[in-house]
Amino acid sequence: MSALSQVGFEDRMATVEFRVAPDAHIVVDGDQCRGCTTRECVTACPAHLFVPTADGGILFNYEECFECGTCYMVCNRAGAISWRYPEGGCGVVFRRG
Ligand code: SF4
Ligand code: SF4
Repeated sequence: MSALSQVGFEDRMATVEFRVAPDAHIVVDGDQCRGCTTRECVTACPAHLFVPTADGGILFNYEECFECGTCYMVCNRAGAISWRYPEGGCGVVFRRG
């Protein structure tokens, strides 16, 4: 087994740092999400940043986003997610463990 494969998820996460930008780089349009029954974003986001609310909406927090783009790719409603990379120097930083 290689050294890389022995690194667990928690160990890997310990090497991740988030430099939070003042403005969200991903904006979720709650009106578009209301009535979405499939909610691909909830299961697809590796950071679990999409949380369904009891009233049929979606709660989203951009601060610990890995910038993988998966939510944008899997969302089934045009315009529900506005996605861009965070402004210079902000966002996720993967440090060598
Ligand atoms: S972001 Fe897209 S997939 Fe997620 S709840 Fe809204 S419309 Fe549905
Ligand atoms: S870009 Fe990736 S980590 Fe960020 S919210 Fe979308 S799915 Fe989650």
